[in-house]
Parts: sequence; structure tokens; C-alpha cells
Amino acid sequence: MTDKTNNVLVVQNKPKDHPFKVIVEVVRIHALRGRLCYQKFSCSKCGQRLTMETPNVLYKTASCDQCQTVTDIEKQGCNFMLEMHNKTLEQVYRVIAGKEDS
Ligand SMILES: [Zn+2]
Repeated sequence: MTDKTNNVLVVQNKPKDHPFKVIVEVVRIHALRGRLCYQKFSCSKCGQRLTMETPNVLYKTASCDQCQTVTDIEKQGCNFMLEMHNKTLEQVYRVIAGKEDS
């Protein structure tokens, strides 16, 4: 009997992070145009990929929801997820203020 998993090509892209300062500037540009960016980083201990809940806010440190380790994101680097949307600027401001779900 053949193990079918041997026939599956698993392509895993390692998340690519960038220097914190670079991400700050790129997110600033998107935010000024009314776009929503969610910071992403990898836990420095367990490697869990984490996405922050608050849009257009970049954290210098954050804790892992799996192992509770605090990662120095400013030192390690990060990336972000850009949300495509058709919101008005007013709606975007409401999301950023936490008054509306994204
Ligand atoms: Zn962790």
C-alpha cells in the first residue's frame, strides 16, 4: 500500500518579514489613503504566525497567543496584511477607532 501523502507536493512559503522602520513607512502610506493594514509577525519562540487585530497600528512588541512569549517585533521585523475594501473614509475611521467591525 502506498502512502498517498508521498505524492503530494507541499509548498510552504516562509513568511517574509521586513525591517520594522520600513513597514512603518509603507503602512503609513496605505493608512493615509484610507486602507487597512494588519501587522503580522512570527513568534520568536514557537514560530507561530500572528496577525494583530487593530488595523493601522504597529506594535513594537507583542505576545504570542500560543506560548505567551513576548516578541521584540521592532528588532525582529514584521509584515502586514492589506485588506481590500470598498469602505468610505468615514467607515475606515470608525474601524480604526474600534467602533465598527472590519
Ligand atoms: Zn509562541
